[in-house]
Amino acid sequence: MSHFTLSQMAVTVPVSSDFSATRSVFKVSNLNVRDKSWAPVFTLDMKAKNYGSRRNHNVICMSVQQASVPKVNVSPLELENPTEPPLNLHKPKEPYTATIVSVERLVGPKAPGETCHIVINHDGNVPYWEGQSYGVIPPGENPKKPGSPHNVRLYSIASTRYGDFFDGKTASLCVRRAVYYDPETGKEDPSKNGVCSNFLCDSKPGDKIKITGPSGKIMLLPEDDPNATHIMIATGTGVAPYRGYLRRMFMESVPKFKFGGLAWLFLGVANSDSLLYDDEFTKYLNDYPNNFRYDRALSREEKNRNGGKMYVQDKIEEYSDEIFKLLDNGAHIYFCGLKGMMPGIQETLKRVAEERGESWEEKLSQLKKNKQWHVEVY
Ligand code: FAD
Repeated sequence: MSHFTLSQMAVTVPVSSDFSATRSVFKVSNLNVRDKSWAPVFTLDMKAKNYGSRRNHNVICMSVQQASVPKVNVSPLELENPTEPPLNLHKPKEPYTATIVSVERLVGPKAPGETCHIVINHDGNVPYWEGQSYGVIPPGENPKKPGSPHNVRLYSIASTRYGDFFDGKTASLCVRRAVYYDPETGKEDPSKNGVCSNFLCDSKPGDKIKITGPSGKIMLLPEDDPNATHIMIATGTGVAPYRGYLRRMFMESVPKFKFGGLAWLFLGVANSDSLLYDDEFTKYLNDYPNNFRYDRALSREEKNRNGGKMYVQDKIEEYSDEIFKLLDNGAHIYFCGLKGMMPGIQETLKRVAEERGESWEEKLSQLKKNKQWHVEVY
């Protein structure tokens, strides 16, 4: 590190024109800086073909953060200026018409169900902060109110405010297709499939989409202390806001937010084919071993210590001593995903607290009072 300081090192290089991203990974050619060999691999969830004009732009800024890990330049940095998050810029009566950039299946063939990564071009007109949600109004008529549009469905935004192309013009969603199976026959009944999730997962580049929002303040990433600890618990698509946080922490070069704390992600899914954004998270693990921890609970593949299915709360229990200590020291804890995840988690936390001779009720009310406790389940 004798040649340069952390903040001095910034080199802009053109992104390789070979941009044929599959499953979120593309490479840029090796770069040699003052005898240091660089072999950066960036992750980008996009099929850049649909956003062709970005291909040859200089978007990558190498900045030496830790062990020569390159970060990506983002713009416009004015998106950092507001002191309050944008809220409900577009209401259901006047939604913004955006355009689908890409739809990518995120899961492998053995995953039960389908989850898609959907990039939406809002042209900078629906800015948002990490942890917020967009509303989507699917096309068609509300069956309960003939003549009226469908109700808004909310989706957590899975990108940072700069979007997957780092230019502040897109937002990404992580959507699980809601499929209905008849409980008696076990057969799929397409007439009862979820309206909006199927519209989103079936949409094609260029399709128009009506969006509202952004909304939500509960899951905003507190940035007053860049060295804070953030414990993120997700089941399935609940990982969406954390993908945004983690890209901001580890992928993007954001002068105003230089993360030096600990981010610890617990992700619960059915099996390894169901993992979401695993390439990105694994890369952070390699690049920032002191700042990132990543624990996965694969319910249909792994057993917990009692021989039952491995759920996210079993992983929490495994690390409960550390988690409780981190909470005592001011860590933020976030929960996002299906509603059904909370009772099991709360039970586990309560049991652990009691084993430690603490009252969970008191601890929880303290965490809430200190604004350390963030829950968004649906
Ligand atoms: P709907 O059409 O609303 O149907 C709902 C369910 O009912 C479906 O499972 C459908 O199969 C079933 N159904 C339909 N008709 C019948 C019938 N006649 N009888 C019985 N069942 C029936 N989801 C994500 O995938 N990703 C996210 O990041 C995400 N974030 C969210 C954030 C927030 C804050 C909230 C509140 C929700 C979030 N959701 C997210 C959930 C999302 O808003 C939708 O609820 C979800 O996609 C289902 O909407 P849909 O229009 O596809 O289904």
